[in-house]
Amino acid sequence: MVKTIKYTKLSYLLQSVLVLATMCSLFFVTQHEVSSSGIGLFIRKSIVCAIVIYVVQYIIGCSFFHVRWLTQLFVMVWWYAFSLYKCFYMGVGDIFENEIFIGTYGAAFFIVTQYYCEKFTTSSVFFVLADIVKLLLCSVTFVTLIHYKIYGYPIVYEEMLAVYNTTYNEAVEWITTYVGLSNLLLLLLVGGFLLVILQVIRKKEMYCYPHSNLPRNKFLVIVVMIALAYYPTVTLADTDWVKDYVSAVNYSNDIKNYGEYVSNSIETIQLSSEKKITTNPHTVVMVIGESASRNYMKIYTPDFPYDNTPWLCDCSNNRDFIVFSNAYGCHSLTQQVLENALTEKSQYNEKDFLNSMNIIDVAKKKGYKTYWITNLAGGDGASTFSLVASRADVIYREASEYDDNMLKYLYKINPEENNFIVFHGNGSHASYSARYPDGYTVFHDNSREAEYSNAIRFVDDFLKNVYEYGNNNLNLQAMLYFSDHGENLVTGHGPSDRSFDKVRIPMFIYLGKEFQKNNMDKYESLVANKSTFFTNDMIYNTFLGIINAECNYYDSGEDLSSSHYSHTIDDLYTFGKTVKILKDPFLH
Ligand SMILES: [Zn+2]
Repeated sequence: MVKTIKYTKLSYLLQSVLVLATMCSLFFVTQHEVSSSGIGLFIRKSIVCAIVIYVVQYIIGCSFFHVRWLTQLFVMVWWYAFSLYKCFYMGVGDIFENEIFIGTYGAAFFIVTQYYCEKFTTSSVFFVLADIVKLLLCSVTFVTLIHYKIYGYPIVYEEMLAVYNTTYNEAVEWITTYVGLSNLLLLLLVGGFLLVILQVIRKKEMYCYPHSNLPRNKFLVIVVMIALAYYPTVTLADTDWVKDYVSAVNYSNDIKNYGEYVSNSIETIQLSSEKKITTNPHTVVMVIGESASRNYMKIYTPDFPYDNTPWLCDCSNNRDFIVFSNAYGCHSLTQQVLENALTEKSQYNEKDFLNSMNIIDVAKKKGYKTYWITNLAGGDGASTFSLVASRADVIYREASEYDDNMLKYLYKINPEENNFIVFHGNGSHASYSARYPDGYTVFHDNSREAEYSNAIRFVDDFLKNVYEYGNNNLNLQAMLYFSDHGENLVTGHGPSDRSFDKVRIPMFIYLGKEFQKNNMDKYESLVANKSTFFTNDMIYNTFLGIINAECNYYDSGEDLSSSHYSHTIDDLYTFGKTVKILKDPFLH
């Protein structure tokens, strides 16, 4: 039955009050420790919102909670439900006022948009477009919900920083590993299905409840529409994970001046001694591992069923190799780790990245020709480690399928010079099976452990190749390997759950005979510290110690090759200084 909409100003007023009451109830239900000024502010904002709702009803000549706005009110219900879900199910202690206002203003915006389309347009394209925008606005919350489903924790800022700095390939691999293509397809199908449902209901509403013939100014409606869109658009940037993403973008833009700072500081580096680790031309190598966890490596976990570190196991019997048994990532995400590991910045000092000296510039000062060889795609300068990489004399960056492609650059290096070479590949980063060629598969059972073990074994082979070539051709005198962070084979290495397999990392140092002869004290300190607890944000100082580059940007307390190394398990932290190493459950 077709009913023309009737309106009364009293019903508009009552419905505005109802909107106000609903918003306030939701706010008080989801708040735990809000101050009285916070309550006052919310109430004032809500009253403004209720007045806006009254104006909207007056302009369109229809009440807000009318059944003809079912598909528009869906947006409000969705965001309200989301704030309740976050509060009671996810246990997030945030203020949910943004979610509440996005829902209310969002619904009002779509109501006015619908009114405009019905009154002033004839094309159905606008209706469909409005429905797509509705779904997009709601889909913002899906990111949080999917993340929670996978990890059991809300999204944190560091993850958004990683997302901002990720590459297309990495993103695709994350989706295929943790979401799965079938689930992604299912999500798209659900989205498509919802779009169809919205169309059907909306057409029925339009047919059953045509608008009255009230004369309305088209431009007034457009102005109201734009005004209503403003609040959800601006607030969205300050809500949930979007807020963290925006902060990540701002941070990444801030640090782009790193090169400028360092350029100004190089002249101020004062080395304590000009003495090199050996007088002959030699090479020092640093290999930065990716996502290697001690928990799933034979050398550290002898009862692990896969023999995935045969070369390293052999090396551990060689006195030139020092395999450290208690090394930890200072965080579980690449960027957060490497901005600490490669620079002065650590969890134990107050330095910020922009004001921190780095391994490359100190090595250059020490007379090394510096090389950065990476197999990571991208490298647009946005991440802290690519900013450090950009300081190298020579950069070889190629996003090849497998890390062993980096070896071809090693073969180009001049043995007559003192070289410092950094390798940064994909290591055993998910998805694991993409890290090694099919023909390489050593462990054939169809499990994540087997795939991960193949990837770790491929890294083991890579390390062996680097060592052997360096030793035979470049007078390799020091080689340092450490993983940026570890890995959990189910949830990856997102920091939300603080799972310790994500920070228990492998690390070893090889020292050549000439090094040992000329720097016996350092060799002995390193051997003595084999089982000492260590976090990889101290790599910078340890590396400086190894290459005899003690200087005014050096702290012996963080140098494993120094007798002044001052840290013990009691004062070490991980996950960005939020968890003590003492809490590692695998230690007990
Ligand atoms: Zn990483």
